[in-house]
Amino acid sequence: MTRRRWIAEHWDEATATLTGAQAEHLARVLRAEVGMEADVVAGGHVFHARVAAVAGDAQVSEVRFNLLSELEAEPALAITLVMSIYKFDRMEWAIEKATELGVAGVVPVVARRSEKHLAQAALKRAERWRRIAHEAAQQSRRADVPLIHDPVLLQSFVKAASVATRMVLAEQERSTTLRSALEEAVAAAGTEMPALEIAVGPEGGWATEEEALFDANGWRAVSLGPRILRAETAAIAALSVAASFLE
Ligand code: SAM
Repeated sequence: MTRRRWIAEHWDEATATLTGAQAEHLARVLRAEVGMEADVVAGGHVFHARVAAVAGDAQVSEVRFNLLSELEAEPALAITLVMSIYKFDRMEWAIEKATELGVAGVVPVVARRSEKHLAQAALKRAERWRRIAHEAAQQSRRADVPLIHDPVLLQSFVKAASVATRMVLAEQERSTTLRSALEEAVAAAGTEMPALEIAVGPEGGWATEEEALFDANGWRAVSLGPRILRAETAAIAALSVAASFLE
């Protein structure tokens, strides 16, 4: 039987501890007892572990594990998804699926056509996005949790220096597909796997000045084919193409 996997908030060389909602679920719903075995992620490494102590009252729960042996783990895809802020329910879906697909990080960006009230609420929403990523990472048995950055303005992110190969999903692009751009990036990177940043526009698409900004800052416009996809579909299709190509 596959052991359940937990991602610990605190750890040292020999132990790892779950607190908060995770510990509560483990202690109260799953009735964890000393000796119970699980896989525990601590600091990006996965361990076969055994419960050493369960502590809890009405307010605080804590489950401590002894780490027994390290297990092999898949590294995250070296891809950061740069996601324009748009309808939160769809963004949440995309963050969950992107985590399952192995994304290393998500940068929410305020684009010209991001709705104002969503852009204003985004900073507060980031904590919820982090919880979604944490749960999805656990569920998909990842060895790490993708980094969900605080929202930033699109133009400051596009202009910032980066060592990554940068691609912007653009439905009007006809000559360069994501796949062909990936092939070139891999060939140019030699023996190393290139780190990628992939940007996806909001529901209304990129504004003309944003397309020019990407272009002026070395981002490559790439296509996912002739059909216009919803932003969340485009994000997940792009990650699937990249994952199947890079892994
Ligand atoms: N311009 C359209 C509009 O007026 O709503 C569509 C925007 S589309 C819903 C949102 C984002 O998904 C686009 O900005 C782009 O990043 C991405 N996208 C959608 N279809 C795509 C395709 N076929 N190729 C590349 N990117 C695509």
